[in-house]
Amino acid sequence: MISVSEALDLIKTHTDQLAGVKIPLRSSFGCFLAEELVAPISLPSFRQSAMDGYAFRFGEISELEVIGECKAGDAVDFEIQTNQAVRIFTGARVPDQADTVVMQEHVEVNGKKISILQLPEKSTNVREVGEQIHAGDQVLPAGTKINESIIGFLASFGIIEVLVFNKPKITLIVTGNELQEAGSPLKPGCIYESNAIMLESALKSRGFDSVRILKVQDELEATKKVIAEGLEDDMLLISGGISVGDYDFVNAALQANGVQEIFYKVNQKPGKPLWFGKREKTLVFALPGNPASSLTCFLIYAFSALKIMSGNPDIALNFQTGVLKHRTYNKFGKTLFILGTEKNGELEIYPKQASSMLISYALGNALVMIPEQREELEAGESVQFLPINRN
Ligand code: AMP
Ligand code: MG
Repeated sequence: MISVSEALDLIKTHTDQLAGVKIPLRSSFGCFLAEELVAPISLPSFRQSAMDGYAFRFGEISELEVIGECKAGDAVDFEIQTNQAVRIFTGARVPDQADTVVMQEHVEVNGKKISILQLPEKSTNVREVGEQIHAGDQVLPAGTKINESIIGFLASFGIIEVLVFNKPKITLIVTGNELQEAGSPLKPGCIYESNAIMLESALKSRGFDSVRILKVQDELEATKKVIAEGLEDDMLLISGGISVGDYDFVNAALQANGVQEIFYKVNQKPGKPLWFGKREKTLVFALPGNPASSLTCFLIYAFSALKIMSGNPDIALNFQTGVLKHRTYNKFGKTLFILGTEKNGELEIYPKQASSMLISYALGNALVMIPEQREELEAGESVQFLPINRN
């Protein structure tokens, strides 16, 4: 059975980023740039006043005649003599012959004349062409994650479309005869289905919005059919039916659909029966149905692949180091993922840890990883954890 790090390596080896696609800037939040962006224009693209005041030619004369007005959006220019000024407002074009703007608070107005009470230094309050960035300069490197600031910055160049890596389309198949939709009292022997909504939320909160959910009973032909449908997308996530019971049909149905197995089973708890494979462009993760196993396998493995597919250059899991508050055991010889709460670097581990339980996941903010070779860890020992459930 392969280890956690071997499984992650295999996922990296078999996962490629999706092609670049031009999308509206408006829809690009959270996407990764597929090309370097170069400034199409200088910013500012003309000399602008940074103040409401008077534009003039810097010199000795402090009594100036106001010969016109230039407000934001005006395209006019003025011939200005050394004893003249133009009334100007923030963002307006500074006349070519003016080099300085005095703010209106620093002048006294007498009809068509002004007296400068406080002479600014030469060039004050004039935003020069390209002061922020020059046309042709690099704006952002490829691989940059687009956020709201970047969207605003790109909009200021008049950019309306960006080339980004495509986001994967995902089908999520939920298997199990016992699963019942919420909305009616539980039938005997049934449980409320919870993995679909949980994994859908995990996907959407990470910016993967294209999620289709399909449900199937534990039946071979139906499972084959639904998998064939799901293989149209970039990633297929399957919940349940991948263990070795007589009614677990996912493995057989994947093989029948020609999906190549890359690994099956990882030396970890929870989530041992994780299956990873590929058919053409589609990656398939068959996640064990136990809810804590499903979520753990999603957070560690499927999310790593999704990051690569969407062009995220930062594919390492965001493990941090914390210190155990209590002695902790790992009797299994497997990598153990357990839930706890991290506060100021100290990790308190919850008592209820089982693949069938979500209680500790729901309460915790840290997914703690205990190495497979460590049987007993003392209080105060350092361990790695993945921050979870935080925004
Ligand atoms: P399986 O992996 O199909 O053998 O399922 C393992 C355990 O997880 C069983 O107890 C199932 O009832 C439970 N389980 C499977 N799928 C789901 C689901 N979608 N929601 C909640 N529990 C599930
Ligand atoms: Mg099942």
